[in-house]
Amino acid sequence: MVKGSGAGLPSSGQGPLVAVVGGGQLGRMLALAGLPLGLRFRFLEAKAEPPVRDLGAVVRTAYDDPEGLDALVHGAAVVTYEFENVPVAAARRLAESTPVFPPPQALEMAQDRLTEKEGFRSLGIGTAPYRAVGTREELDEAVREIGLPAVLKTRRMGYDGKGQVVLRESSELDSAWATLGGRPLILEGFVDFRRELSILAVRSRSGETAFYPLVENEHIDGILVRSRVPASRDPVLAAASPESTGDGGADSPLSSATSPVQAEAEGIARRVLDHLSYVGVLAIELFEVPDPERGTRLLANEMAPRVHNSGHWTQDGAWTSQFENHLRAVLGLPLGDTGLRGEGAAMINLLGTPPPREELVRVPGAHLHLYDKEPRPGRKVGHVNVTVGGGVGPGAGAVQGADPMGLAERVRRVRELVEGRGERPE
Ligand code: AMP
Repeated sequence: MVKGSGAGLPSSGQGPLVAVVGGGQLGRMLALAGLPLGLRFRFLEAKAEPPVRDLGAVVRTAYDDPEGLDALVHGAAVVTYEFENVPVAAARRLAESTPVFPPPQALEMAQDRLTEKEGFRSLGIGTAPYRAVGTREELDEAVREIGLPAVLKTRRMGYDGKGQVVLRESSELDSAWATLGGRPLILEGFVDFRRELSILAVRSRSGETAFYPLVENEHIDGILVRSRVPASRDPVLAAASPESTGDGGADSPLSSATSPVQAEAEGIARRVLDHLSYVGVLAIELFEVPDPERGTRLLANEMAPRVHNSGHWTQDGAWTSQFENHLRAVLGLPLGDTGLRGEGAAMINLLGTPPPREELVRVPGAHLHLYDKEPRPGRKVGHVNVTVGGGVGPGAGAVQGADPMGLAERVRRVRELVEGRGERPE
């Protein structure tokens, strides 16, 4: 077994081999972006029929199996991961022989909501008020301190709204404790946010850093259902504006160069990147809240040390996708342009059984991405990116009127199909 091969090429002389811990849809989309760059992929995934199965070799063991880890990195130029619950000990073991990016300390910060919030606070980044909860008595104390409504969450392994309960009245504490108690928990004050935003940053091994335009996200029951770029104008201003469509269109672009919110978000991300000596794509989920002095300000909710669902729009809406830029970053290649390619882009998640592909791709500007996953209720099986404007030729001037169907209308059509209310052809 070859060990200590560093960042060299594998002996076959083919393109660099990227080892990926995890074999889900994010790994699949990394490979789909990396194959045209001449990269090769190997994945570590215990589950059967992983979405990456057609795109590279798959080592089928648990994430902390030493032999599996050795088989994963054999001849690899770099190791990365596509989910944040990679055991830190495994990441450190891999790092003994092969560069691991993002660095294992990013996993440590992101895996525990308490460590994550303490990390944000130590960097001067605002968060919701929070308190660690280990016992039923501590839950009472935390509620007394923080007040209601509040959100009780497991500190580890929660995702897509799993492992969290919103508490509105003290009568709900017993049932919340019955559901979540016994594990380390955190109580967070409920944030009455104006918008949910996310900032995607990328930093290469050379230190080169870039940011994507702020993304506005909509969650239902804790699951991301829709993202859009540019983010809407301040909702208060938008409501007062006669041009506003108010329904998710690209009616109100905020240039990244001029938006103070973009600058604030980039400042937050930069502090985290620096603190962690970060390499790769980093996503930070943000709440925008009213602020008496500045109008609004941003609170950090959580971070993902990996490519992120709220960055999927970049596949079709940005000059360089988050997946390609993550690979460029971890291999030390120059980064690609993170700018918005047209006038606007949106992403709609497909949960459960998706509508027929013929109907989805018929919507102008719709790009379908399926993950090769068996549909189950609520399971993410794909997404649709919707783009508009830019360039020359058909659809180029959609927002200006050459094609009357702007982003908001395109998104509405996809949503109708997804929500099962579309006018389907006979
Ligand atoms: P999370 O798993 O922390 O990303 O939470 C999933 C979603 O639940 C977020 O995107 C919000 O929509 C909502 N949420 C989580 N925490 C809070 C909070 N403290 N206040 C209000 N909403 C929250």
